[in-house]
Amino acid sequence: MSASLPPDFFTPEEKLEWMQVALQQARLAASLGEVPIGAVLVSHDGQIAGLGYNRRELDQDVTAHAELLALRAANRRRRSWRLSDCSLFVTLEPCFMCASALQQARVHEVVFAAYDPKSGAVCSQGHFFDDHRLNHQVYWTGGVLQAEAGQLLQDFFRTLRQRNKVRELQAGGGRGCRRQQAEAGAYQSTDLTAGVSGQSEGLPPAD
Ligand SMILES: [Zn+2]
Repeated sequence: MSASLPPDFFTPEEKLEWMQVALQQARLAASLGEVPIGAVLVSHDGQIAGLGYNRRELDQDVTAHAELLALRAANRRRRSWRLSDCSLFVTLEPCFMCASALQQARVHEVVFAAYDPKSGAVCSQGHFFDDHRLNHQVYWTGGVLQAEAGQLLQDFFRTLRQRNKVRELQAGGGRGCRRQQAEAGAYQSTDLTAGVSGQSEGLPPAD
């Protein structure tokens, strides 16, 4: 799916390549025990402006989402908050917090992989970037490599559930980590790879 067509800075093949970079960031998050979500901010001359992966648990920071960390890295590197010559590639549909920050940074375009029916602000739970009352329009495309990104999330939560089960058994049926279990359950009940019905954004199949 996508919003009205922006000028094409990246070919469909380049979008797949940049999403692979975002997926590498997501895998890095998973290796550190974080929910695997990764992002890369790319300037329209093909340079990496900022990288980020989810670090919410590691940093105990509710704002440490992949998108915001990529934005902060780019702001620091460029000594500028304005990123209008950049597109962001992220492995999961942004939440409202990140969508707002991306809009305020004047990012040109957001390309995401898996849809997030639970908290996605782009087309699942809201249509933030399509709100024409805002002073800057962010173009968006969803579903690029969504199968890979969704699989990464599902594998992560499957491993987490298994680990928690073992811990519970070792603790003699104790409570384990209730909060993580609840969160894993919430993601499990959501098909992150299913997307939503509607337009096709015309990119090659995810596999
Ligand atoms: Zn977010």
